[in-house]
Amino acid sequence: MTASARPAPTAPVCRACGSPDLVLRGKKSGEFIRTEFAFHRCRACELLFVEPFSGFEIYNDAYYRGAGPDPFVDYETEYRDYRRTDRALEFADLARLAEAHLVASAPSSPAPLAWLDFGCGAGGFLKFLRERATFAGRPLALTGHDVGSYAELLRSTDGFRILDFAAITREPSAQFDVISLIEVIEHLPEPAATIALVSRLLKPGGLLLLTTGNLDSPVARRHGIHYRYCAPEIHVSLFNPRCLARLYAAHGLTPLPVRYDGTVVFKVVKSLRHRPVLRAVARLALHFPPFVRLVDHLYGVSAMPCAVKPGRADGPTPSPGRPVLH
Ligand SMILES: [Zn+2]
Repeated sequence: MTASARPAPTAPVCRACGSPDLVLRGKKSGEFIRTEFAFHRCRACELLFVEPFSGFEIYNDAYYRGAGPDPFVDYETEYRDYRRTDRALEFADLARLAEAHLVASAPSSPAPLAWLDFGCGAGGFLKFLRERATFAGRPLALTGHDVGSYAELLRSTDGFRILDFAAITREPSAQFDVISLIEVIEHLPEPAATIALVSRLLKPGGLLLLTTGNLDSPVARRHGIHYRYCAPEIHVSLFNPRCLARLYAAHGLTPLPVRYDGTVVFKVVKSLRHRPVLRAVARLALHFPPFVRLVDHLYGVSAMPCAVKPGRADGPTPSPGRPVLH
């Protein structure tokens, strides 16, 4: 051996539970980074994850314009006026779920409602929430977490409290009544660390609103790793409902069943952003609840649970097996 000899590559372990018991599901090249990415599935917790992780450098201005691996991203329009995007459908749906939870769990609390939007991006959800004078009868205290040029704008121009990586890890425990993590966790190479942090930051009885793709849905199962959502440069940690529930439980959170409406509609119209005629037809069809439920089944949107932090809020804490939050 010489000093220049390379160390043997270490075998990957699961990024959610640490298990070395993995199955290689296949490899495919990225659209922008012409590397062969491997998709590993964990036999212990069912996480599907991508190796190698290509880093956060891909989240640049081109990405934010929709010129990167996700053509449906449009931070520019969302930052200027989220109402000109379809995201308001999703925001209203998430607010409805949170309100139902809060009214049921702390009906008479006069305290300000502390809400953290983790991965707040262009800030559309923060602005949507700020426009409401009160939420579940309580004044709102909003915080965002993200890094990059839009996080800086939201802090300096829009006056939001925005925490960067260092600041959020210094935040005291049990600070927030609600934490939203909307289409964020699939981008993170260390999802367990984020769920542990979120669990620490939630107050007892607090709500985690989390959305991410469902790799167990009929559409995803049909396409395997060639499902469009399996974009290896950006979506590096991919879940099914059981895997997500295990991750919650491993970090002291209780899975909470939900039923989405506007979030389902948003996912469809967003994917048709560049096909205006189909998009108009879809928007019309999605006024019919049976069609929404069909799409929900095909993409498994409502099958992905949210979570609550066990413990006493100002009232009874929801427990597993309670009626679906809708
Ligand atoms: Zn695992």
